[in-house]
Amino acid sequence: PDRIRVAIAGYGNLGRGVESALAQNPDMRLVGVFSRRDPSSVSLLDSTVPVYAMADIEHYKNDVDVMILCGGSKTDLPEQGPYLARFFNTVDSFDTHAKVNEYHAALDEPARKAGKVALMSVGWDPGLFSLNRLFGETILPEGETYTFWGKGLSQGHSDAVRRVPGVKKGVQYTLPSEDAIARVRNGEQPELSTREKHVRECFVVLEEGADAETVRNSIVTMPDYFEPFDTTVNFIDEATFAAEHSAMPHGGFVIRSGDTGTQSKQTIEYSLALGSNPEFTASVLVAYTRAVYKMAAAGEVGAKSVFDVAPGLLSPKSPSQLRKDLL
Ligand code: NDP
Repeated sequence: PDRIRVAIAGYGNLGRGVESALAQNPDMRLVGVFSRRDPSSVSLLDSTVPVYAMADIEHYKNDVDVMILCGGSKTDLPEQGPYLARFFNTVDSFDTHAKVNEYHAALDEPARKAGKVALMSVGWDPGLFSLNRLFGETILPEGETYTFWGKGLSQGHSDAVRRVPGVKKGVQYTLPSEDAIARVRNGEQPELSTREKHVRECFVVLEEGADAETVRNSIVTMPDYFEPFDTTVNFIDEATFAAEHSAMPHGGFVIRSGDTGTQSKQTIEYSLALGSNPEFTASVLVAYTRAVYKMAAAGEVGAKSVFDVAPGLLSPKSPSQLRKDLL
């Protein structure tokens, strides 16, 4: 085909982000969206793109070059990833760090049997941050790597805040501790506990008649979620909540601090400040979709991660153009 034919499996925040990212990449074309919900109930940004039932997806195996999996990591991807690798080249954003090798094995067998590429855990973390951790620890073998997250909206912690009696609306942001980042940048290579690396900030709209001090106390003392951190709770009104806390910002830092031969201090820092986590993650998925297309065309098969993808493959430019423009 003259354009890479792409489809989306699962249409939530990330699926919508992929749809808009594809519109910025003229060498790719969105040929359809697959959903487990009734297709007529799923409305896309571009209403001319067809929505199909997930149950029919295998019938489209000859019409799609790369399938972008936008389901959730917890329950959707462990099931959908291995199944879809039987029919399609796939890209997904699987982010359950503790299960990455289990998931890799589950994708690898069906992908090899079908002669497909299944690229897992693409996004920013895992994804771009993983690459930067790799650069850090290979280029500066004697040193420490630090990952800080935020400022970012945490879905799980926001849910926990909303379950506290007296809370009408609530969100939680995780922020890197300024003090910890300064020490790392300074080359101190400190040993930092979770508590020292991040702080938590909550914004709450109270139910009518609820007592602010009681609510604050229930939040900051919540075991696991908030007790181990420095947590601040801000009470705001509903209008402010709607105006300032509806987006999904995120980001963070990967910093490698190391020493080379003459004990010179060397620091590598990579940072992201994201206005929308799902839209950014989607943009990473789409760039890697192009790489998957090229890898499959070159005859590669099996499960892959970002470590297996040569950076030049992400670009629509030819290798000679890339050398000329960016080397
Ligand atoms: P959502 O909850 O928005 O969507 C997940 C799935 O839920 C969708 O694919 C969709 O499947 C279903 N769904 C969505 N909306 C509805 C609805 N209104 N009613 C019923 N079902 C619905 O999750 P996100 O898109 O925000 O995130 C997906 C995953 O992305 C996360 O689990 C995380 O693993 C990953 N991620 C990875 C990052 C990285 O850096 N690697 C960063 C950010 C996220 P269907 O259409 O079939 O119903």
